[in-house]
Amino acid sequence: MPEASSLVRPEVLALAPYNSGLTIGEVLDRYAPARIAKLGSNESPLGPAPAVSELAALTTDLMRLYPDPQGRALCHAIGARFSISDEQVILGNGSEDLISVICRAILRPGDRVITPYPSFPLHEDYATVMGAIVQRVPVGPGFAMDVDGICAALQKPARLLIFSNPMNPVGTALPVAELERLIAAAPRDVLIVIDEAYAEYMSAPGSITAIDLLRKVDRPWVVLRTFSKAYGLAGLRLGFGLVDSLEFAQILSRVRTPFNANAVAQAAALAALADDSHLAQVVGLARTECHRIDVFLREQGFQTAPSAANFIFFDCQRPAVDFAEELLRRGVIVKPWKQAGFERFVRVTAGSRNDSDQFMAAVAEIGAATS
Ligand SMILES: *Cc1c(COP(=O)(O)O)cnc(C)c1O
Repeated sequence: MPEASSLVRPEVLALAPYNSGLTIGEVLDRYAPARIAKLGSNESPLGPAPAVSELAALTTDLMRLYPDPQGRALCHAIGARFSISDEQVILGNGSEDLISVICRAILRPGDRVITPYPSFPLHEDYATVMGAIVQRVPVGPGFAMDVDGICAALQKPARLLIFSNPMNPVGTALPVAELERLIAAAPRDVLIVIDEAYAEYMSAPGSITAIDLLRKVDRPWVVLRTFSKAYGLAGLRLGFGLVDSLEFAQILSRVRTPFNANAVAQAAALAALADDSHLAQVVGLARTECHRIDVFLREQGFQTAPSAANFIFFDCQRPAVDFAEELLRRGVIVKPWKQAGFERFVRVTAGSRNDSDQFMAAVAEIGAATS
């Protein structure tokens, strides 16, 4: 289609394809390993709460009928969980859908968007598609978000400050005082979006969700959460946003597609939200396996970033794509980072104990780099 390049907006042509990695089927086809450890996408090894699987019997009607476009039952449960009005909750087809909704609702061509770097690529891509200019603020020593750098970037007019906390891909979490400083530094005409996809895993003393800070300030903000990570429902696609006000939530709702949260996912999320002991088990396993992987990698001489999430980001001391390919041969799927300046970094998910063992055995076999 030779016309495509003239038809399509230049912002879209400039996008890099999403780095989603290989599926289990693709790895089987290519290398036929005896066992596959899928550690590239931060999925939960334990899957969803048992009550979710028991829902399977209900799904015929759930599939036949349109979902509740407001997702009232689920928004009510989420509202109760976070002590926020049901009407300040919006649902998305994954939280990535909501990132796109927010960008479509607020960004004009030429607007500045501030985000840390290395970044979650979708935080940049949807802004880029809208014609906004993304300003990246590189992480500082120890892979911590550069709060001073972001505060400096906020001195010039901007429309959106967006970041994940804990931060994907590096895994670091902001101390409360730093989070407070960032919130205070953002002028009221800048929307603050904090993507808390990994908040359930935060267990360090002093770590806090931004919701508790933002609810006290009178300014526009959105906190994004997802059922894809600790709740083990990545395949069903359900994310949600907590929004500063009813008015802004309604505006965002006008921009989304009316049935963006499917009925099966809504029912599953409701069941998943009710099982705190399963969640505690998922988080406990992730902390244990993260720690094991981190200690191992450091013993092998690799530099790792301190993680408050369910993954470890580390310098593999050679092109990450090559290292990841060696792991694939051994049935281990990880994510080689591809953003400029971080092409030697790999992100590995903390999966099951067996997954970690397989990963560590493979790394030991490949050996530390000499370069
Ligand atoms: C995994 C992840 C998400 C979750 O996306 P969903 O669309 O909800 O599956 C969102 N933000 C970040 C930073 C993530 O790592």
